[in-house]
Amino acid sequence: MKSLPLPNKPYPDWSRFIAALWDHGRKQTVMNKAIINSHTYRAQSAICGSMTPREDEGTFVRPSGGLQCARYMHYIVRGETPDPMPEQIGMTFAVGHLLHEISYAAVRSGLPPCFSCEFEKPVDLPDWWPEHEKFKQAGTVDLVISVCDELGAAEYIAQPAPAKMLVDFKTMGGYSHREHKKKMFGLEPDAFGYLAQLAVYADSLGVIDDGAILAGINRDLLMQPLAPRLVTAEVLKAELVRVKAAILSALAGEDPGPAFHMIWGPRADFYCGRAGKKGYCNFKRLCAEEPFGV
Ligand code: SF4
Repeated sequence: MKSLPLPNKPYPDWSRFIAALWDHGRKQTVMNKAIINSHTYRAQSAICGSMTPREDEGTFVRPSGGLQCARYMHYIVRGETPDPMPEQIGMTFAVGHLLHEISYAAVRSGLPPCFSCEFEKPVDLPDWWPEHEKFKQAGTVDLVISVCDELGAAEYIAQPAPAKMLVDFKTMGGYSHREHKKKMFGLEPDAFGYLAQLAVYADSLGVIDDGAILAGINRDLLMQPLAPRLVTAEVLKAELVRVKAAILSALAGEDPGPAFHMIWGPRADFYCGRAGKKGYCNFKRLCAEEPFGV
């Protein structure tokens, strides 16, 4: 294995370490053949699943979907059916799966022996997650990297640093990747629920006090470096408070109405498809038909 070489001085934080590790591990001269073989095999089945119809198993609230907006969650719990996504979206999902698997292979190929990693790790959701027919009871986290030799790890990452880091990869188009690199987490809309997902998983694994990393992969420009951004414990905890309140309201059958708009103002229109914007929410039609109740 051709591990990430020791830097002249430790990387200042986990984000910089992970960016260097990913970039090193994806090199043709570093990538381990057996490892990439196993990940391309996994990718094949995920790509096939993305490009063919799925069995309709219904719509659920899950860590990776339905937490971003209280009204969105309310609609799922109420039993509404979201508008279908365009059939051509399968290609975007397929490429996303492939880039995830290559990223796992890159991390595994370049990881120095003083660290260990787990990818696609199944997690038990937190105690407060409702046992309800509209809530999925399982989740997986993309990647957890752990220190297994403190002295060795200290040569790679400046101390003090958490002994474990949760990493969620997101594949993004060029525009979203640029936005991701400068995003003020917690102060800008998180309409795809990335922060909510990360907060639930960090809470599940008991690592929320260490923050967690959202790592953006630019699927339009693959020579671009990875963009790992730390989401701090404060932001994750604030997100959990919002998610828990939305869950209580959804279970009580209350329509939270304009909660998303009250938080984000006109910036919500981009996602909700109001004020002449296209919108990305697949409840936007139903939501526009129902008055906000204020
Ligand atoms: S359109 Fe906007 S407010 Fe309505 S459910 Fe979707 S994200 Fe929420």
